[in-house]
Amino acid sequence: MTIHDARIAIVGGGLGGLTLARVLHVHGIDAVVYERDASRAARGQGGMLDLHADGGQHALREAGLEEGFLAIARREGQDLRLLDPDGTLLLQEDTPDDAPLDRPEVDRTALRDLLVDSLPEGAVVWGRAFERATALPGGGHRLHFADGTTAECDLLVGADGARSRVRPLLTDARPFHIGQNVVESGIPDIDRTHPELAAMVGRGNYWVLGTDRSLSAQRNGDGRVRVYLGFYTSEDWLTTCGIPFEDGERARAALTKRFADWAPQFTPLIQACTDPFVPRPIAMLPIGLSWAPVPGVTLLGDAAHLMPPVGEGANLAMRDGAELGLALAAHPGDPATAVRAYETAMFERATAVARRSADIVKILMSGARGLLEFFQRRAGQ
Ligand SMILES: Cc1cc2nc3c(=O)[nH]c(=O)nc-3n(C[C@H](O)[C@H](O)[C@H](O)COP(=O)(O)OP(=O)(O)OC[C@H]3O[C@@H](n4cnc5c(N)ncnc54)[C@H](O)[C@@H]3O)c2cc1C
Repeated sequence: MTIHDARIAIVGGGLGGLTLARVLHVHGIDAVVYERDASRAARGQGGMLDLHADGGQHALREAGLEEGFLAIARREGQDLRLLDPDGTLLLQEDTPDDAPLDRPEVDRTALRDLLVDSLPEGAVVWGRAFERATALPGGGHRLHFADGTTAECDLLVGADGARSRVRPLLTDARPFHIGQNVVESGIPDIDRTHPELAAMVGRGNYWVLGTDRSLSAQRNGDGRVRVYLGFYTSEDWLTTCGIPFEDGERARAALTKRFADWAPQFTPLIQACTDPFVPRPIAMLPIGLSWAPVPGVTLLGDAAHLMPPVGEGANLAMRDGAELGLALAAHPGDPATAVRAYETAMFERATAVARRSADIVKILMSGARGLLEFFQRRAGQ
């Protein structure tokens, strides 16, 4: 069977799955993306991402979407303010207007829209939550969705993120908690509602790092500042800490209290949050995870190599999508060889990035001064 006759099913219409669909489309190969969300607007996509030259930017070039990306990239989103919990400003980096677009920030929703709009009508089937796959006698799989529908495919790509339901077809590995929990919220329309906080955060990232907690704020393209409160605690903390996350007012008060021993300028950022407080346990897959080839199934992105959120996951997911698409286009008569070549390179790439991410987590957990020393060491090299 050639790749042009094969039915390709991509489970998950996140950045990785959509990049794969787009790169295949550029090479004249059809694929169907089955996405659990009812529509592209069904769920907020989260904050900004910085896209690296060899990650997301590389993938968008292969997808023929560089121009569209430059139209939504925010150079000034690279700005950084790093502070100690005692209020000392340790580092301020303001991106000059003519700075190269090394790691431009891009709004996740705008990026996902760019990818969705680049696909033919009907390539994304919304509202299809994949539940399980059964093997077909002649090869390939039947996919079963939560709404009772089914679909058949010759190649199944699991791009369904951290809690992948496709992953068990390839490996027993499961994500484990890394001793960090994050509570996410946000301040919409901050320039109008809280101009003093808008000025404090600036145009990009504002990080306050302690050794047991962190508070970071990030300017988004939609006029919102997203606020992330990090707690270096075990997974059960989210249920044992007594903070009623679903009750905005009480959660705001309880979270503000948790930062009462820090310099007083930080808690107004929590008090100004009117977006829901969303608790997120942070987990990762084992570093160096790989699996023996299974005919007709593979994984990409978080489904394959979930890592702590230190700015790599979306870049890797998009790179995976592009590389798998390119491999299938390069071996049109032999999809199995293409998948093997993709997996071999992906395992190596992901392992290297996962090791680096684990080191960065340790540095971030050492506090703002630890991160400053790391930056200084790196600059001196
Ligand atoms: C707080 C936070 C900040 C982050 N910041 C950054 C950053 O700055 N830079 C960076 O590179 N990375 C960052 N990451 C990591 C990044 O978000 C992920 O690595 C990336 O989104 C992975 O892409 P993906 O396509 O593999 O999975 P996802 O983006 O998770 O997409 C998976 C898709 O599959 C769908 N899906 C799930 N289950 C099913 C199912 N059963 N059936 C059908 N569809 C399904 C989901 O609805 C979703 O659309 C951050 C993560 C977090 C939590």
